[in-house]
Amino acid sequence: MAYKPRSVPEELKVLRILNNRMDFTSEQQKYYLYKEKGFEGEVRFDLLEEQLQSDCLILNDLNLEVNNTSFQLDTSIIFQDTFYFFEVKNYEGDYCYREERFETNFGKIIKNPLDQIKRSNSLLLQLFQVLGFSQTIDACVVFVNPEFFLYQAPIDKPIFYPPQLKQLMRKLDNEPSKLTNRHKRIADKLISLHQVKSPYSHTKIPTYDYERLRKGFTCSKCNSFLCSITSGKLVCADCGQVEIVESAVLRSVGEIKLLFPDKRITTNCVYEWCGVVESKKVINRILIKRFSRIGHGKFSYYVDK
Ligand SMILES: [Zn+2]
Repeated sequence: MAYKPRSVPEELKVLRILNNRMDFTSEQQKYYLYKEKGFEGEVRFDLLEEQLQSDCLILNDLNLEVNNTSFQLDTSIIFQDTFYFFEVKNYEGDYCYREERFETNFGKIIKNPLDQIKRSNSLLLQLFQVLGFSQTIDACVVFVNPEFFLYQAPIDKPIFYPPQLKQLMRKLDNEPSKLTNRHKRIADKLISLHQVKSPYSHTKIPTYDYERLRKGFTCSKCNSFLCSITSGKLVCADCGQVEIVESAVLRSVGEIKLLFPDKRITTNCVYEWCGVVESKKVINRILIKRFSRIGHGKFSYYVDK
């Protein structure tokens, strides 16, 4: 079990909702799928590293900053003497390594993950100096997609390919390790410095406005809009998923809050967003139960308790 588990990045949460509620251009769709794929790769690697038996602390997804420069570590593992971090790539298909560069098989140059770990390594080292940590740092790139292939792969670079991942895990499992409170303090310090990135700082999120987004409950499992309410439950006509209306309403409130952090949560707006609830009373009852009401009558709105 990871000491710091991974959660869905805020940006991806926003993209998922928008993908469902508006029509992306092909460029936006491409960006969304790229993000989805990256996350899928990280989760794939999590499943492997969580099987490690040795005494270590796993920290998934750290956004850190040193000297006003930010960097991100996909996966970090603290062992007794060494701090490992991994740059996880979910690339699929054929790539080529040519003159210290990564290219697609169409010759398009892509971001070099070896440069990425070099940069992160130097920033992490600076951070460790500031914090007074003396842990040795070791970094590598891991390609996790079984359908990835790199032509002219260099043999002298810190890279692990899909068929080598089991071997990598064995190597880590053989790392002699006995952790103490000192290691836990390093982990806790890094977690305390982790910055949850605001999704709105990403300029690549498509612009959207409340009026133009598709309204209505969506299925919690398959995202379908074909949902109806039967005796207090939301039932999906596409996949058969059943969800209690209260939980579906709260999920919808979460969506509104994530997309429109400045918008006031009112009965009317939640009613409009959910779509198929027959009466505003149902919405009202749930909001009163779960939130604090500010103001009275038609000007009232709800905030977290
Ligand atoms: Zn469904």
